[in-house]
Amino acid sequence: MGIKMRAWEKNIRQVVPYTPGEQPKLSDVIKLNTNENPYPPAPAVEEAWKSMDISALRLYPDPKAEALVGAIASYYGLSEDQVFVGVGSDDVLGMAFLTFFHSDKPILFPDITYSFYDVWADLFRIPYETPELDQNFCIRARDYDKENGGVIFPNPNAPTGEAVELSFIEDVLLHNQDVVVIVDEAYVDFGTQSALPLIEKYENLLVVQTFSKSRSLAGLRIGYAMGNQRLIQALNHVKYAYNSYTMNMPSIMLGVKAIEDREYFEDITARIIATREYTKEEFRKLGFAFGDSRANFLFVTHPKYTAEEIFEYLKGEKIYVRHFNSKRIKNYLRVTIGTREQMEAVFAALRTWISSKEMRTD
Ligand code: PMP
Repeated sequence: MGIKMRAWEKNIRQVVPYTPGEQPKLSDVIKLNTNENPYPPAPAVEEAWKSMDISALRLYPDPKAEALVGAIASYYGLSEDQVFVGVGSDDVLGMAFLTFFHSDKPILFPDITYSFYDVWADLFRIPYETPELDQNFCIRARDYDKENGGVIFPNPNAPTGEAVELSFIEDVLLHNQDVVVIVDEAYVDFGTQSALPLIEKYENLLVVQTFSKSRSLAGLRIGYAMGNQRLIQALNHVKYAYNSYTMNMPSIMLGVKAIEDREYFEDITARIIATREYTKEEFRKLGFAFGDSRANFLFVTHPKYTAEEIFEYLKGEKIYVRHFNSKRIKNYLRVTIGTREQMEAVFAALRTWISSKEMRTD
């Protein structure tokens, strides 16, 4: 028997929400399921956190978040009117969907990609099409040549980790000069070339990045977009039409400290890249298959064992990885790169499990 719908419920906006990765309450887990950074934030962030003037919190924060916008602009050699900041890149991307994809034509993004894109499109009633990645999970530039209301893809892509070269992005831009093209660079700092240099040449290109991954600040929620002044102004208009104080005072202050420490950032990203290459070798030894990820995660599959059984086994060992229950990728696991020690623990567990399985089938 269905529950009767109340009259007022007919006015509720129906949405299928995004499912974020699990945040386990246990403290002794190896958490490799949401692409966080295993290292702490820059030392200057900790110092500033400890000496924060709590009494200042009675005031509203700077709605323009000028200190943070200025620090990001000077880090990248941009002017302040080329930078927009938000509450994680999710907020920036959501705002960008609302701002730039206001067309009756479908926007385009890959069939396998960040699973928030279709959620925002549905929420804002934006039509969309999802061209298929090729068999190796690579984006095909020609799929983006058709008429559309905008284009978005991550580089490197998520959850595959596959990256495209700048020439590919330029090719997509050349074929899409009448719409906004967004490159979501959440994972760019782990070895992919940023499309940022192209913003001077292509006024319809928006590059979105985040402090959540390479700057170890997922908990603070800081994301940013860089592009032509007109794009940034349009984003600000929509932001001020919705919520003028998106950035809280501690995030603005600590975000400045984080971006100022280039040396620490370079050190931890280099360490993660080195551990990623070690992780590839170990997965290969155990018979896993995967593409050439340039992100802080690998997207792996095994010819003999299902992703689901490996996922469940690892969870039992308090090792959390990510499994997506969607058609083309249900036999894959996305494994975040942790510290070298964490990855060694993963492989010790996997070796034990695989040898016990093989003994049983002998
Ligand atoms: N883009 C991609 C491709 C992601 O995987 C994520 C992380 N879930 C984000 C954007 C959003 O990250 P954040 O809001 O923490 O900046």
